[in-house]
Amino acid sequence: MTLTLCTRCDVCGARKEEPQRRRKRGDMAIRNIREIGEEVLTKKSREVTEMTPRIRELIEDMLETMYEANGVGLAAPQVGVLKRVVVIDVTGDDPHIFINPRIVESSGQQTGPEGCLSVPGKTGQVTRPSYVKVAALDADMKPFELEGTELLARAICHELDHLDGHLYVEKAEGPLQDVQYEEQEDD
Ligand SMILES: [Zn+2]
Repeated sequence: MTLTLCTRCDVCGARKEEPQRRRKRGDMAIRNIREIGEEVLTKKSREVTEMTPRIRELIEDMLETMYEANGVGLAAPQVGVLKRVVVIDVTGDDPHIFINPRIVESSGQQTGPEGCLSVPGKTGQVTRPSYVKVAALDADMKPFELEGTELLARAICHELDHLDGHLYVEKAEGPLQDVQYEEQEDD
């Protein structure tokens, strides 16, 4: 099978960097995760106006990239694409796809450790709402709403911040801590 799609983002400002590494596995591919310091992570993403094969591929790749990195969420800017697309799976078998998501309700607060695939090896204390309701489009561009509490609420807030060019480190209380990654079974 030949991949005919361009592997580079047509809107991100990081084009001069090396093309995203792509490893074919079925129709999906792991994309390079951009890290703090890269300009693309500070930019505001654009709304998705229609579903295209290219966006579908982006969503599939984002899911694959998130699972490969053992993340619970990933936003398109993290793979260098400035589009308002987010994937979240806090349990490992319950993927949510959000296109043009926005938080329509939130309440309460929770303070706890947060990390980011774009800030490897670090964690910080961040206060987030303990409940959010998000409105978004699904992969078929159909509107839906989802309520989240605890980690899901935190992940939704964290990933939506990426779409506006914000990282959790801006909200962290006190200095970031180093984390030791342990080899863990996902079971
Ligand atoms: Zn993040």
